[in-house]
Amino acid sequence: MKSSKKQIATKRMEILFNNALTNAKNNPGLAEKQAEIAKKISMKFKITMPFEIRSSFCKKCKKFIPPGIASKVRLGSKPKSIRITCSYCNHTYRKIISQ
Ligand SMILES: [Zn+2]
Repeated sequence: MKSSKKQIATKRMEILFNNALTNAKNNPGLAEKQAEIAKKISMKFKITMPFEIRSSFCKKCKKFIPPGIASKVRLGSKPKSIRITCSYCNHTYRKIISQ
């Protein structure tokens, strides 16, 4: 079972990230720490972060930007896309949603 360590790490990363999202509003300092640890785990174990996690980190300033709290999420059409704007540096990241 070569991948079990990675599986455990993936679970830990997801739990940490969900905790970070939960704490983002009331305890942003703790949330940021948890998000950082989740990111470190993904790097250490070479886990590809799912889009919902990746999109919660700014591509430019690398900060944790929980949706609706430190980032604005807007839906665009033609082509169908999600636009995420970082509240820290105003960087906008666009993701095309493919059917
Ligand atoms: Zn940013």
